[in-house]
Amino acid sequence: MPSIDPAGLPLEQKVSLLSGRDFWTTRPVEAAGIPSIVLTDGPHGVRLQRDGADHLDFYDSLPATCLPPAVAVGSSWDVGVARRLGAAVGREARALGVTVVLGPGVNIKRSPLCGRNFEYYSEDPLLAGMLGAAHVRGLQAQGVGASVKHFAANNQETDRMRVSADVDERTLREIYLAAFERIVTEARPATVMTSYNRINGTPASQHRWLLTDVLRGEWGFTGVVVSDWGGVNDRVAALAAGLDLQMPGTGGASDAEIARAVRAGTLDEAQVDASARRVAALSGLVAESSSLPAGADGEVSEVPVDEHHALARELAADCAVLLRNTGGVLPLARQSRIAVIGDLATSPRFQGGGSSRINPTRIDIPLDAIRALGESVTYARGYSADGTDDDQQAGSRSGSDAVGGDGREALLTQAVRTAAAAEVAIVFAGLDKETEGIDREHLDLPAEQLTLIRAVAAAAPRTVVVLAGGGVVSLEGWHDDVDAILAGWLLGQAAGGAIADLLFGVANPSGHLAETIPLRLADTPSYLNFPGEAGHVRYGEGVMVGYRYYQTVERAVRYPFGHGLSYTTFTTDALDVTLAGDDTATARVTVTVTNTGARAGRHVVQVYVATAAGPVRRPARELRTFTKITLRPGETRTVGLDLDRRAFAYYDIELHRWVVAPGDYTIQIGENAAHIVAEQTITLTGDSGHRPLSLDSPFGDWLHHPVVGPQLRRSLGGGMTEQSRKALEQNPDLLESISTMPIRQVLSMAGTRFRDEELARLMELSR
Ligand code: BGC
Repeated sequence: MPSIDPAGLPLEQKVSLLSGRDFWTTRPVEAAGIPSIVLTDGPHGVRLQRDGADHLDFYDSLPATCLPPAVAVGSSWDVGVARRLGAAVGREARALGVTVVLGPGVNIKRSPLCGRNFEYYSEDPLLAGMLGAAHVRGLQAQGVGASVKHFAANNQETDRMRVSADVDERTLREIYLAAFERIVTEARPATVMTSYNRINGTPASQHRWLLTDVLRGEWGFTGVVVSDWGGVNDRVAALAAGLDLQMPGTGGASDAEIARAVRAGTLDEAQVDASARRVAALSGLVAESSSLPAGADGEVSEVPVDEHHALARELAADCAVLLRNTGGVLPLARQSRIAVIGDLATSPRFQGGGSSRINPTRIDIPLDAIRALGESVTYARGYSADGTDDDQQAGSRSGSDAVGGDGREALLTQAVRTAAAAEVAIVFAGLDKETEGIDREHLDLPAEQLTLIRAVAAAAPRTVVVLAGGGVVSLEGWHDDVDAILAGWLLGQAAGGAIADLLFGVANPSGHLAETIPLRLADTPSYLNFPGEAGHVRYGEGVMVGYRYYQTVERAVRYPFGHGLSYTTFTTDALDVTLAGDDTATARVTVTVTNTGARAGRHVVQVYVATAAGPVRRPARELRTFTKITLRPGETRTVGLDLDRRAFAYYDIELHRWVVAPGDYTIQIGENAAHIVAEQTITLTGDSGHRPLSLDSPFGDWLHHPVVGPQLRRSLGGGMTEQSRKALEQNPDLLESISTMPIRQVLSMAGTRFRDEELARLMELSR
């Protein structure tokens, strides 16, 4: 902690704490014992640039372990994976002298086209929130701060520094803020990073409701709000809204703006003091972490390369998703004649481009790892992953399309020949590139890879496709031709080893989809509103994101959210749901799971809640909790899980709070979001459904309000003519239709003499 309260420092020194000294460090105030700290990327490894490197040179950073990116961790459905990954990043950060690692990224995958989906966990906020919280806990246990990003509604890269995400409040609360809320309230991250975009017209960096009212006021955040790099438009407005630290520095220009505003009386100095105190407290992490005890928690002075590479391999194996495995083609027998096909088997893709790009300590080559486990392995390149050197491959003339075409042909012919001579062909396919700053335009694999997959599948006795990519790719046009598909996402630097372990059954696949694989791009819920136009992107699908939409409108998909196969099988029995405690909106779920196969395996218990209760349109079902367990062959285990109040609630935009509507709630155990294997319905008393009355409230709401209704009926009865009373008695439909009209209109049309004071009194009573 600083030796003196920074609020007592001269204004110039205080404001100097509120922006970076350079790209990656803050300014120290030695007189007050406030050290400079290093904040750097993040999230799945440490990207610490070498001294003197240009900040835009994403390649020139110190070697660090590239662990599986969030797209992979999302598919692990395992908080243990996220926590251990966070801890490993934290250990390396400490070894490299980094105080804050910029991550995790917990934005929701609104569209599969978002170019940065590889840095995010899921289309579901509960999954993203639980994994993000575990990452933060793991990281911060090492004395290193996290920076949960990008707050908020940053769900595309197109026009990312300006676009306004136009989102209604229920959708924000239930979908786009929910993961941040969970992480902030449960894991207490040291910092939160604002996003570049606007939200309903206001830049996130200047969004007072978001940064102060919600983040601090409602969620109790006490850490530092830091800007995304270069994401501040108006420094004074940002500070007033609650943004403490601007990164990178502006050479003092923005500090001077703040000081001028204080002197001019347009900015309250108390705001400066509060932010300076928070930044000073954050720098205190340096002192705290250097006093952490050495030992079990990993007091390391250098990156533990071997240990962390082994960890990267182990974690990666938990993340890949076995999508299809017909006829038990996988796992492979070691003695099988195996043909490995595809450039990505020797030049693996294991991370995306941009600020999260790690300089790996080593890279596992899939072909080498497969050769280490298999006895008979041949290889053909099949295509050129970067599309640049087809002609060299063909060894012919250069420069013309015809030459490239010849190269492609030769690669294809050779691949087909190699595949035909094997018992099983493993095709490594994937996206050519994904990078921060650019959205994808379609879901397709590169055309030459599609041709290759089809040709190999036609020639080889059995075909397995291993996919690499930070986002969903379309499986249409070839899915039915192949025997197995392993979605390898981007698995980090040990991807090759992990994939070999999975193919041969050294590890048993246990990943599940954290995002739906649709049949067509046009089926995706945001299709008509992505990436927006004229500076606005309208989140018109509301809360119906991902499986919430597909399940609600009953749209077929290729593979649903939550899908994932194993080399063993599980059954789920004896679901029991009991209401817990005297709060009628919490429940205890128990379920028995048995491993009915011959191998040890890991199973995810997915608990969904389905309801139509309440005055808002609810998704067909929503994931409300989950856990992942390991079972030996034949083992049975009873799993207990709690559902809290929030598992049943929707956000009410009129009451400005989470409401549990009275009604029926079906607790469902899903193999995935589309396949429910057990369910039980409970009835909740819920919260009172009555809301404050206004002159715009329907007449029926007034009449049926438990307190106001009787009084109103009495008053009305008194003031009504005999004729009106008769008309109403003889025509009940009339009353029903009047009930839907705002009371304002009813009273004025009926000519009823109601005093304003009387109405005001009744409205007050309704609160
Ligand atoms: C990214 C952040 C990153 C920062 C620093 C920005 O472009 O959006 O995620 O942490 O750069 O590199």
